[in-house]
Amino acid sequence: MKAGYYVGNFEYEVRDIPDRDPKSDEVKIRVAWCGLCGTDIHKFQGKNGASVVIPPIILGHECSGIVTAVGPKCKYFKVGDRVACDPSWGCGKCIWCQRGLPNFCLERHGVAKGFSEYVYPPEKNVYHIADSLDLESAAFTEPLSCAIHGLDLLNIKSGKTIAMYGMGAIGSLMLQLIRFTGAAKIIVIERDKAKRELALDLGATVAVTDQEIEEIAKEENIDYVVECIGLKATMEQAIQIAGKNAKVLLFGLGDPEEPISFNQFEAYTKELSIFTSYLNPLCSDRAVRLLESGLIDTKKIVSARLTLEEMGKELKTLEYAKKGKVLVSVSGEH
Ligand SMILES: [Zn+2]
Ligand SMILES: [Zn+2]
Repeated sequence: MKAGYYVGNFEYEVRDIPDRDPKSDEVKIRVAWCGLCGTDIHKFQGKNGASVVIPPIILGHECSGIVTAVGPKCKYFKVGDRVACDPSWGCGKCIWCQRGLPNFCLERHGVAKGFSEYVYPPEKNVYHIADSLDLESAAFTEPLSCAIHGLDLLNIKSGKTIAMYGMGAIGSLMLQLIRFTGAAKIIVIERDKAKRELALDLGATVAVTDQEIEEIAKEENIDYVVECIGLKATMEQAIQIAGKNAKVLLFGLGDPEEPISFNQFEAYTKELSIFTSYLNPLCSDRAVRLLESGLIDTKKIVSARLTLEEMGKELKTLEYAKKGKVLVSVSGEH
């Protein structure tokens, strides 16, 4: 089978490797689509993603597909099932798994590597999808589940003002989730004009630049700020514009070499709460349900559908990743 590898040193390669039969409770999935995640780009650039990276590794983890075989202990899936996949799985036994926080599992296993023709997750990480949901949209299960976990942490009350930074792929999903929180006002901060228009299209009340938000923050109390970019400047500004008693979620993946700074005294006088969010513990089922409901528009977010081979150029230039979500068409089935 073909698989797209990050081989180190800013190089990507499609290699031919043997596929195999599923073991135990594994489900063998023929990957239809796999999203390119910001963490894949981080890995390709020699920074770590959610965990330490030692190349060569197969990239990708946001995949959907069709079951082609099941392991002998598999109970809930059969050949032909259409599925989405939660790419990383806890051991189920360690203290963090026992606490219901598999994102901190001491032996976090696997990660289904979606830039390949087949993946073999255990069935507890595989989710049935309704016939009405196309496999391309189902590939948004993992990024959407991460956004769901992040927003859960904020425990948003209705009737509030929420500001959100960044209309990249993850911001575009986050905005649509925010729309369902009963916010009185949703302000999107985004430099790119086309993306500001997309924000209005997807339910923002207003879409402004990072200069304009400073003026707005002087006039009104911003109750929640969600940062979906991960740049030092925007993360710092997100904390600055937050109002009294506000909650700030730093969702964008920041550069480990560039810690941010903020005035803790100012934060104290505002009684700020600052949150970060790590992975997607037990949120995949809700992501699938939301995608099936049709309430989340994925089509407007996709900027390109590329082959495994075309990803080499894309990882270097980020031509389409800058504009929205890049999907790898592995089998390309719907
Ligand atoms: Zn991801
Ligand atoms: Zn564990």
